[in-house]
Amino acid sequence: MIVAEATAYRRRFDRLLERLPRLGVDAILFFEMTNIRYLTGFTGSDGVFILRPDKGVLLVDGRYITQAGEESPQCEVVQYRDKIGGIVSALGEREAKRTGFEAAAVSVELHEKLRGKLAPGKLIPLTEALTGLRSVKDDQEVSLLRKAVDIATEALLQVIAGVGPGVEERMIALEMDYRMGALGSEATSFPTIVASGMNAALPHARPGFRKLEDGDAVVMDFGAVHAGYRSDETCTFVLGGADKKFREVYAIVKDAHDRAIEAVRAGVPCREIDRIARQVIDKKGYGLHFSHGTGHGVGLDVHEAPRLAAVSDQVLEAGMVVTIEPGIYLPGHWGVRIEDMVLVKEDGCEILTKMSKELKII
Ligand code: ZN
Ligand code: ZN
Repeated sequence: MIVAEATAYRRRFDRLLERLPRLGVDAILFFEMTNIRYLTGFTGSDGVFILRPDKGVLLVDGRYITQAGEESPQCEVVQYRDKIGGIVSALGEREAKRTGFEAAAVSVELHEKLRGKLAPGKLIPLTEALTGLRSVKDDQEVSLLRKAVDIATEALLQVIAGVGPGVEERMIALEMDYRMGALGSEATSFPTIVASGMNAALPHARPGFRKLEDGDAVVMDFGAVHAGYRSDETCTFVLGGADKKFREVYAIVKDAHDRAIEAVRAGVPCREIDRIARQVIDKKGYGLHFSHGTGHGVGLDVHEAPRLAAVSDQVLEAGMVVTIEPGIYLPGHWGVRIEDMVLVKEDGCEILTKMSKELKII
């Protein structure tokens, strides 16, 4: 499967190579498969990538040797019998002095084993430096995300035509998954959420056997996958008709969502976007019922850097793709979440998701 042109991998490789001196290392070991895919194109489920100044070395076991050769022709592909041995010989060959590694992706056990085989002080944990590796998207990545959005939008339009009283949540979710797949999605971005009535008050409800009733709020959070790139969008619909209280809460969430999107542009701290959305909801007295961050980066992973939350110290950059997803959840009653994906630009942002977020009664 071709996920990006070879030049894109070369560019990503070169960009990281330039940073090696500042990171104080002369090679980096990658274990996280999404990062390995991003840097090499390899889509297998196990492997190690070593970024060295002279070349990229992709280490895989026997199952993946053919696939790795096809997907990552720009890398030297090496087959290992045992992973540690493979890493040590690939590193030892050139006597790397300081090797950085993805600390967040390595178990204590693997770290101990590696340390036992390499000279003391040779392994340098890298966390912060690699967090934002994939956060700025290139044009090709944005077009793959657009395609994922198109698939999800088309599927949703087909599915909501059949949503009504008496239909089980899980049947709607299954239908959504099926339609996305039939339209070309490789998988679902994450388990589809269909939460109705009281279940809609749970931010991460799992679709169950509850049958929709007239007057229900229905929160649908869904995403398609195209060439590895994931979409993420939430629509909250109402069945039959909405009462005054629901309209009021929906309007508050929509206002928080709109103001946050208006504030998105390169150079703005991520926590500022969260603060703007939260302030709208706080002012109306629902602050305690907005129990999660305002958004997150989305790309090869559905949740990736940056985080749009109060504790985030990241800053928006042109080319980042992030979600804006405020919500209000009233336990025992219902909930509202409105989520769009936006592409950050120098002077604002472009909303990538297509569904209107005006209150929709179905
Ligand atoms: Zn979502
Ligand atoms: Zn999301």
